[in-house]
Amino acid sequence: MEDDIFCMIIRGEIPSTKVYEDEDVLAILDISQATRGHTLVMPKAHYKDMLHCPGELLHRVMDVAQRIGQAAIKSLGASGVNILTNAGPSAGQTIPHFHVHVIPRYDVDTGGFEITMKENTDKDLNLPVIAQEIKEKL
Ligand SMILES: [Zn+2]
Repeated sequence: MEDDIFCMIIRGEIPSTKVYEDEDVLAILDISQATRGHTLVMPKAHYKDMLHCPGELLHRVMDVAQRIGQAAIKSLGASGVNILTNAGPSAGQTIPHFHVHVIPRYDVDTGGFEITMKENTDKDLNLPVIAQEIKEKL
């Protein structure tokens, strides 16, 4: 166990609003609620990000994230959901304990969350070279 805020929540040292809990997985409402029902799903064991989480446990976390996304549509009136995880500070990860955001989306969306993908302005991108670099480490 580490001293990040999620390990402290898992140990019961900090209160949280639980949505789901089993032996290995905890889901809590994000205190900032980017949208109504914004939930964080995490393994109870400490892994710093998704890339370091063992596959079987990762699948269990994602299964809970899927179920919460389904429940958000059935119970909260959401019309869509973003399910995402940030790995590393450059990707926007602020708490170094793997967690998945489940962010319900509404047709009338008053929340403070959006994803914008813009075309990369680097004109020297060589897709076959990039693909080869990735493939070599798979
Ligand atoms: Zn932790």
